[in-house]
Amino acid sequence: MAEYDVDLFVIGAGSGGVRAARVAAGHGARVMIAEEYRVGGTCVIRGCVPKKLLVYASRFSHEFEDAAGFGWTVSGAKFDWPTLIANKDKEIARLEAAYHANLARASVEIAESRAVVEDARTLRLLKTGARVHAETILLANGAHPVLPLIPGAEHAITSNEAFQLAELPRRSFTAATRSCAASTTTSASTCAQRWWGGGSRSFSARPSPRSKSKRMHCRRCSRTASITPPIR
Ligand SMILES: Cc1cc2nc3c(=O)[nH]c(=O)nc-3n(C[C@H](O)[C@H](O)[C@H](O)COP(=O)(O)OP(=O)(O)OC[C@H]3O[C@@H](n4cnc5c(N)ncnc54)[C@H](O)[C@@H]3O)c2cc1C
Repeated sequence: MAEYDVDLFVIGAGSGGVRAARVAAGHGARVMIAEEYRVGGTCVIRGCVPKKLLVYASRFSHEFEDAAGFGWTVSGAKFDWPTLIANKDKEIARLEAAYHANLARASVEIAESRAVVEDARTLRLLKTGARVHAETILLANGAHPVLPLIPGAEHAITSNEAFQLAELPRRSFTAATRSCAASTTTSASTCAQRWWGGGSRSFSARPSPRSKSKRMHCRRCSRTASITPPIR
């Protein structure tokens, strides 16, 4: 009997975990991968992919305007946010299924559960309580968005929720520390701006070298604002 259940146990079926699992399995390793939410991870489910779909959607308004200048008559063009969100969800489900299929084809066993590390070689799957002994454990659990320590942050949402809004906000304000966060909300706000004529601003937070305050720089209007986070 083998000393371990698997050669490699990967926690997290996001971009990093899926790739590592498939490559290791391709070299003959017995691999199990645990995912507590949806296979595909941040990029596919609530990151790069939904963001890009929303960005693409936001561009059509300009295309219609430009087309008119080239002699086209584009009448009756309307935008429907729920249709966009439903189609985005369909595409994500398709990609998730493709990720499942690719892992299965590579003979990687998928455990749809949160995994916790008990010791250097033992994991527990919370869904079933089963223990798995692995020669090597790879932590590919990614990250999660956090709200900044600013007054009113409790009223804000993160990029996770931004892709599931029931309605397109007429106005939005984005405070972001990374380009992906900024571009995500910019995509939604660009939709809002083009279809509603609403206002939106995207600010990226950069720590000021001389003070504890953060300088917020608007990517669209180039204005800056200072925000001092509460002292913890
Ligand atoms: C809004 C947004 C837009 C982005 N746009 C881009 C882009 O355009 N281009 C680009 O290159 N990158 C983009 N990124 C970044 C990209 O999504 C991440 O760099 C990438 O997903 C990180 O992959 P990962 O495998 O490290 O983690 P993740 O993809 O986050 O995967 C980690 C997985 O682990 C799971 N998990 C965590 N803990 C456990 C546990 N204990 N048990 C079981 N499962 C667990 C999580 O559910 C998750 O599915 C974007 C990110 C965001 C948030």
